[in-house]
Amino acid sequence: MKAFMDKNFLLSTETAKHLYRDYAAPQQIIDFHCHLNPQEIWEDRRFENITQVWLGGDHYKWRLMRSAGVDERFITGDADDREKFQKWAETLGLAIGNPLYHWSHLELRSYFGYQGALNADTAEEVWQLCNEKLKTLSARKLIVNSGVKALCTTDDPADSLEWHKKIAEDQSFGVKVLPSFRPDKALGIEKADYPAYLKRLGEIASFSQLVEVLKERLAFFVSLGCRVSDHGMESVPYAPAEPAEAEAIFRKRLAGELPTALEEKQFKTALLLALGREYHRLGVVMQLHFGVIRDNSHRVFRALGPDAGIDSIGDAPSIRELAAFLGALDDTDELPKTILYSLNPNDNAALVTVMGAFQTGEAVGKVQHGSAWWFNDHRQGMIDQLTTLAADGYLAGFIGMLTDSRSFLSYARHEYFRRILCELLGSWVENGEYPNDENALRCIIEGICVKNAERYFDL
Ligand SMILES: [Zn+2]
Repeated sequence: MKAFMDKNFLLSTETAKHLYRDYAAPQQIIDFHCHLNPQEIWEDRRFENITQVWLGGDHYKWRLMRSAGVDERFITGDADDREKFQKWAETLGLAIGNPLYHWSHLELRSYFGYQGALNADTAEEVWQLCNEKLKTLSARKLIVNSGVKALCTTDDPADSLEWHKKIAEDQSFGVKVLPSFRPDKALGIEKADYPAYLKRLGEIASFSQLVEVLKERLAFFVSLGCRVSDHGMESVPYAPAEPAEAEAIFRKRLAGELPTALEEKQFKTALLLALGREYHRLGVVMQLHFGVIRDNSHRVFRALGPDAGIDSIGDAPSIRELAAFLGALDDTDELPKTILYSLNPNDNAALVTVMGAFQTGEAVGKVQHGSAWWFNDHRQGMIDQLTTLAADGYLAGFIGMLTDSRSFLSYARHEYFRRILCELLGSWVENGEYPNDENALRCIIEGICVKNAERYFDL
C-alpha cells in the first residue's frame, strides 16, 4: 500500500516521479484566470482563522456540505467559525474520491505543514495549527510563497481598476496582478437591471455608442496590462443581424421593452463580434465559458445571490453556433486568440475539433481548449481533457492550468494538475508509446506548466 498523499502522491512510475520532481514542480505559476479580489491583494489581507479562508466564499465546499446533509446554519449561516469548521471536517473526512479531499489536503501540506488527514477527530488539532500559522501568513505572502509570477483577476468594464493601479505602482510586490475584461453585464440585455448597469458605463444612447464605450474601457484595461477577456454564458449565441437591427433592439431596450429570445441572441452576437474584432486588434485573448446553468435553486439564490453552489452542467447545444461565431471572425482574419471552456464534458472532443479548424501560424495553439473547468476539475476530468486534446489536437501547445478561484490557497490546484499531467505522460513513456526523450519531455512539461502560457499571453 502506498503512503497517504506523500511526495509521490498520484505518481506511480519512476518516469512520472522524475518528470514531476525535475520539470513540473520547480516551475512558477501563471494563473491566467482567477477571481481573487484585487483590493485584498493591495491591502494584503490577513485571516483570523481557517474557516474564513476555506468557507468564506467557497461554494464548492458549500455544496459538498449540503450534500452531506449539513444544516445551512453551519455553512453560510450564523454558527460560529469553530462550529462551521467542525462540520466541514466531518464532511471532508468521508468525502472519498472528491477533488476537494485532495485539494484541501494539498493545502494543509503546502501552507500549514500538516501531513495527517482532516476528519471529525483531528478537527481541533488542525484548527489550532492552521490558526497559529495564519498569524504569519497574508494574501501577498501566500501568492509569493506559491511561486506565482502573474495572475489575472476578473473585472467588470465599469471597474475603476484602482487596486490594480496601486499594486502595479508598489515596487515591493513583484507579482504581476493584471485585470481581465469581463463584460457579461454589458451583454445582459435581457436582465431587469440592464439600464441601471449601462448608467455605470456612462450616457449611452445607441448600440454603436455602447460598442465605442466598451472599446474605450478595453483600451484602458490594456493600458494596465490586461491580456485576456472573459465571457460567461449558457451557450454561445450566433444569430447574425444587420447593424440597423442591432440598433433597433438596443433602442427598444432603452425604451423599457425586453427583447424577444431571437433579438437577445442577435444583440449578443453583434456585440460579441464587435468585441472579438477589437480583442484581435489589441492582441487580447478571448475566453468563452459556456455549458452551464446558473442559480438552479431559486430559494438559495434569494438568500445568498449568485455563486452560492447551486449551478450545474447544462446541455444547451453549443457547438454549431460556436463554430459559426468563430467562423464569422475568422472570415475577415479577425479571430483573436481564443480559449474555449465548456462545463459539459461531452463537448470535449467536438470543441477540440472545432478549434482545429481555426488554427493558424499566428500562435502555437491559437485556439485553446481550456483546462478541465469547475465540475470537471478533478483527476478524471483532467485526464479526459488532456487525452482528448492530445488525440484530436496538439497537447504540447497547451497553456495549462488555472485556479478559477476566490481563495489565496488554491494554488495547490496547480500541483494537483501537474502531478496528473506527469503521471499521464509518464505512463505513455513507460508503455513505449513515446520515446524516453529527455529534451522533448522537458519541453512539453515545462511548456504546459508555464512557458506556453507566458508566450500565449505575451507576458
Ligand atoms: Zn472563472
